[in-house]
Amino acid sequence: MMTASPQQDAAFGTEQHVWQVLEGVPDPEVPVLSVVDLGLVRSVEIAGDAAVKLEVTPTYSGCPATSLITAAIELALQDAGYTVETATVLSPPWTSDWMSEEGRRKLKEYGIAPPSPCGTRGAGMTIACPQCGSEDTALVSEFGSTACKALFKCNACLEPFEYFKCI
Ligand SMILES: [Zn+2]
Repeated sequence: MMTASPQQDAAFGTEQHVWQVLEGVPDPEVPVLSVVDLGLVRSVEIAGDAAVKLEVTPTYSGCPATSLITAAIELALQDAGYTVETATVLSPPWTSDWMSEEGRRKLKEYGIAPPSPCGTRGAGMTIACPQCGSEDTALVSEFGSTACKALFKCNACLEPFEYFKCI
């Protein structure tokens, strides 16, 4: 999949290359998003020859896939030839505000409404339909396929869709 990228491969052993590998690690729950899109990797440090130290903040504990994320990250970097040491950083806790613009765009293309900035989804706030863009939508259930998503229905195109909850 990376072959279609116009970018040159970054050199092995550089921070840039590590980020490039991380961009290829999908979130186990929403595979269209990478762990970088979600903002899960707090820092990357080159700790020596092919040795990398990472700080990773897992997404909300309500997601069953959380523990898989660290394993997936380590596996991808090991495959790329690195030894990895991962520290889990729980403070500050992950928030959906850390999702990148690119991540939000991909999520919407995938048919899931991206999270609103935290604190803005109050009473009367509308979630736009990712299919047709209509704001005439209604909450069906606070819990979609997983606890991290809510299920909505669009009154304009009548399609149900999921909303990635703000945390
Ligand atoms: Zn719609």
